[in-house]
Amino acid sequence: MKSIRIAIDGPASSGKSTVAKILAHNLGYTYLDTGAMYRSATYLALKNNLQIDDVQGILKALSDNPISFGRAKDGSQTVFVGQTEVTRAIRDNDVTANVSHIAAIPEIREELVEQQRRIAKDGAIIMDGRDIGTVVLPDAELKIFLIASVEERAQRRFKENQERGIATDFETLKKEIAERDYKDSHREVSPLKPASDAITFDTTGVDIDGVVAFIQEKAEKMIDMD
Ligand code: C5P
Repeated sequence: MKSIRIAIDGPASSGKSTVAKILAHNLGYTYLDTGAMYRSATYLALKNNLQIDDVQGILKALSDNPISFGRAKDGSQTVFVGQTEVTRAIRDNDVTANVSHIAAIPEIREELVEQQRRIAKDGAIIMDGRDIGTVVLPDAELKIFLIASVEERAQRRFKENQERGIATDFETLKKEIAERDYKDSHREVSPLKPASDAITFDTTGVDIDGVVAFIQEKAEKMIDMD
């Protein structure tokens, strides 16, 4: 059996991580949430009161507090910077509001991309992000680009927040998602865009099982080819 690398890219709240986690479980693959790494860098910058453009300060904080992943008792993935668990903290509003700025800094991307490639080197991996198919793993065997309308993505995020007991305003969510899309797609380094050989899948109106089935079928065909 051949082990492949699967890149799942797409805009904020397009369902990438939910789908990637299920696929990783079904295929017995490693899952890497690269967004969590940019969020961790942002968390460190905010925590250490660093300016958002203090590149050397943020790189030092990253080297003093390496990002690592663990597993909670319920099997879900946990995120650490140094010894500190930041799984929840990296989802806070102030991190979300600042992450696109930090993710636009070339030196920070260089550092995190190197770490991501190191984690992927043994294959059998599913990574989700914005530049996996274009920059991090340009020769990944399977590249998927997930999209969905802003309205639908805001609804998904709204429901998620409600379930977690977080009060949010729907219109604000929509605005934030559209703003993050704009910043991520218009930055100079590694902007959000599909690789030329990616399969673009519009998940508007499609449930998670439908998206998983679509990708898994393609992945299994490739895995069984050898
Ligand atoms: O995927 P998630 O929404 O958690 O990503 C948070 C932010 O991290 C994105 O809005 C983007 O600015 C940045 N990111 C990136 N490249 C990746 C993954 C995430 O620039 N591969």
